[in-house]
Amino acid sequence: MGFDLTEDLAARRRQHRFRQPLVMDSPCGRHARLDGRNYLNFCSNDYLGLANDGDVIEAFQKAAGEWGAGSGASHLVCGHQRPHQDLEEALAEHTGRERALLFSTGYMANLGVMSALLGKADAVFEDRLNHASLLDGGLLSGARFRRFAHNDADSLHRLLQRSDARRKLVVVDGVFSMDGDEAPLAALADVCEHNDAWLMVDDAHGIGVLDEKGRGSLFAQGVNDRTQILMGTLGKGLGTGGAFVAGSTELIETLIQFARTFIYTTAMPAAVAAATLVSLKKAQQENGRREKLADLIKHFRHGASELGYSLMPSQTPIQPLLIGRDEDAMALSGALREKGFLITAIRPPTVPEGEARLRVTLSAAHDPDDVDALLAALAAIRNRNSNV
Ligand SMILES: *Cc1c(COP(=O)(O)O)cnc(C)c1O
Repeated sequence: MGFDLTEDLAARRRQHRFRQPLVMDSPCGRHARLDGRNYLNFCSNDYLGLANDGDVIEAFQKAAGEWGAGSGASHLVCGHQRPHQDLEEALAEHTGRERALLFSTGYMANLGVMSALLGKADAVFEDRLNHASLLDGGLLSGARFRRFAHNDADSLHRLLQRSDARRKLVVVDGVFSMDGDEAPLAALADVCEHNDAWLMVDDAHGIGVLDEKGRGSLFAQGVNDRTQILMGTLGKGLGTGGAFVAGSTELIETLIQFARTFIYTTAMPAAVAAATLVSLKKAQQENGRREKLADLIKHFRHGASELGYSLMPSQTPIQPLLIGRDEDAMALSGALREKGFLITAIRPPTVPEGEARLRVTLSAAHDPDDVDALLAALAAIRNRNSNV
């Protein structure tokens, strides 16, 4: 009866699924400080090491001096300042699109796009492993909601063929956030074209990271002109925060009219936009960051598979170790913590039941020695306990 929160919380604890934020006493980078101790950080999404980059920080500080701490209003009232406009233009150019539109977070961008474009007469088709914000966006839109087997274009094709919806929108992660594998975008685009559907790609983990200029999954897979909607985030590879949607002029004008998560919210601080202009430029030009990252990825995969860990089919900086049971994943995360490594366990409902994992992420901020140290710690733990 009533709001029995005590029982809900107790149940969550019994399932080993109780969640709590860690209080970090350091900026995001190679090291993390918490509870008075230093750790090597292998769980951020700061893949290029730009979150704490000196040039990006300087741009942020300078813009805060010029534009203040907050934008003061939504984009359509008087919060859309010159740095926001400059960043939208730079993102449109970077992604080879007519226009781009800023959102305050990726979560809001996904909700906004789907509710602006879809209604009851329409249908949305989502990969089973899509990010929560895409699933929520699809449900909130009121469109008929269908999920297809992970990375399975045939499964999608069958669903599309049976649909008589007015608009059909296919939505996938470019890089799957908890697995690190990439969507087969050319095959999906074929199926979309064949069935008169639009394709939307959430490239939160691809922007800045994939393609030799950091243009993301669509360029890496050669499907930029076959994908109607691109969503990218600024808080991962680009190291700041916020998100954007890129596409045709008509798409962006539609979102400006109808995307409620764009309209009814305060514009991000202009200093964030100004800092992102600099981190975007660095991501475009400093290919060495991506080369270093590629070496670290290869090194980690080689070492972890020699130790007998189950790796996922991932060529990206997301390199999860699949463990299985929640408590085993928690135990491994705890054992690594004792040895000075910060890597959080990812449990259901973020991932499917029985697929708890350690989501190891690599960053250009790491040195090869850091990866060696992590592999040595994993080896020592493996020798002690066969479950992990
Ligand atoms: C992180 C993430 C988001 C949400 O972006 P935020 O800017 O952090 O709200 C959306 N989609 C995917 C695939 C993500 O990994």
